[in-house]
Amino acid sequence: MLDEIFQRSEDAFHHWKTFRVSQRAEILKSLHQIVYKEKDQISEVISNATGKPKIEALTSEVIPVLDLLLYFTKKAPRILKEKTRPLHLLMQKKSIISYEPYGTVLIVSPWNYPLSIPMGDIVLALLAGNVVLLKPSEVTEPVSQLIQDLFSRSDVPKDVVQVIFGGGDVGQKLVSSERIHKISFTGSTATGQKILEAAAKNITPSTMELGGKDAAIVLKDAPLQKTIEGIVWGAFMNAGQTCASIQRVYVQRDSVQRFVEGVVAQTQTLKLETDVGAITLPQQLERYESQLEDAVRKGAKILCGGQKEERNGRPFFQPTVLVNCTDDMEIVKTETFGPMLPILMFDTEEEVIGRVNRSPYGLCASIWTKNKTKAIQMAHQIQAGTVTINDAVFTHALCETPWGGTKKSGIGRAHGEEGLKSFCQVKHINYDRIGLKPFWWYPYTRQSLDIAGELADMVGKPTAWGRFKAMLRFLVVYLFK
Ligand code: NAD
Repeated sequence: MLDEIFQRSEDAFHHWKTFRVSQRAEILKSLHQIVYKEKDQISEVISNATGKPKIEALTSEVIPVLDLLLYFTKKAPRILKEKTRPLHLLMQKKSIISYEPYGTVLIVSPWNYPLSIPMGDIVLALLAGNVVLLKPSEVTEPVSQLIQDLFSRSDVPKDVVQVIFGGGDVGQKLVSSERIHKISFTGSTATGQKILEAAAKNITPSTMELGGKDAAIVLKDAPLQKTIEGIVWGAFMNAGQTCASIQRVYVQRDSVQRFVEGVVAQTQTLKLETDVGAITLPQQLERYESQLEDAVRKGAKILCGGQKEERNGRPFFQPTVLVNCTDDMEIVKTETFGPMLPILMFDTEEEVIGRVNRSPYGLCASIWTKNKTKAIQMAHQIQAGTVTINDAVFTHALCETPWGGTKKSGIGRAHGEEGLKSFCQVKHINYDRIGLKPFWWYPYTRQSLDIAGELADMVGKPTAWGRFKAMLRFLVVYLFK
């Protein structure tokens, strides 16, 4: 069965790659309009499949997809335009750089944003001229069926996007195939490691968007009320089931008490279902309970939340705030992926940067302060793909900026010009402008050694004047001797 799927992809690729980027963009505009017209039904399907509030389905899934389609159908032709690269040394040659598709791109996606994550990758892969096999999460199948249906009703030709349903076993077969030319994976670090092992056998280029343990740093001059509201949202939106959720917050000693009081008061206003959605994958409850147990055993105190609940047959977990937390607790070290906010204390900026960077993850981080200059200086020292100042989590929705992590949070970037180009093979074409025989060819003569000597001076002399004189001598020996 996979053989037939690969064959259909390869046949579709022969046709799709012949379109210009602007033609592909025009075709994808039909999808933009379908998503816009059906935004309410789509949000409903996502909300039912995941248990997230409908407003989160709209703001963090449907609107980002509409915006990404709008932006890239306009910008992709310019970004992927063939360019000439001026050569500063061997000026008798000329170089062209072109962005070409890989062929069949495999996109493997998770359940926490079952529309916006795969759609972002699919759209960019298609604009670059690839065809797509999507292996979405088995946990949110109704949304994957919806994606299949949206493409079948758009102007995108048949088989340019094929959705393959199934679990990790199906994913494993796909990533191991040499008929896959590029992998774009979003999911846990553990699965990412397995995929990289399989990809290594065929040297399949792979982008990895993996787990995180994002820190928020609250400096003593932070705007208190805004910081409290932003951090409570950043920790509990999507019930904390976001790779970029705030999962540990470091507060400078002087402001801890007021911050904690405010966070607890704000958290207690949140209502399950309306503000904090369901736990999409019930198995996660075990991890929450064991991390809480470990934290309490090591001295943490739960100030609010801490219990699971069931509503309309779905599991929920109360948004939970903990204090007296330390860096050795599982809840501070390991990805939680749930509505948990451990609070830690720090004294100096240097100390907190060291503690934040000690994590094996490096997806995002946030700094909360009134001092933008200081925050930007600190941001440069933090090992993360994205650092936000006085906000958190939302940047996955910024389609024009790169998204991705450092360390065990991933390899490569989605979104932005960087993400679009990650679906391309860069080709360099080089040719002679004036038909001179290269001096570095055989035969190796006294003259070719002289020319090479001048060339060495052209790139090695310490002053611009020295390099310029060498260039004149180079031209004389090369052209006239
Ligand atoms: P997961 O790793 O369990 O599954 C992700 C996808 O991989 C699913 O489609 C699954 O079927 C497939 N899969 C599982 N085993 C496979 C294998 N051996 N070979 C190929 N495919 C396989 O992750 P999840 O539980 O769906 O998602 C939660 C994780 O995703 C969290 O760790 C979260 O941080 C991470 N995540 C990261 C980002 C990011 O942008 N960095 C975004 C969202 C989620």
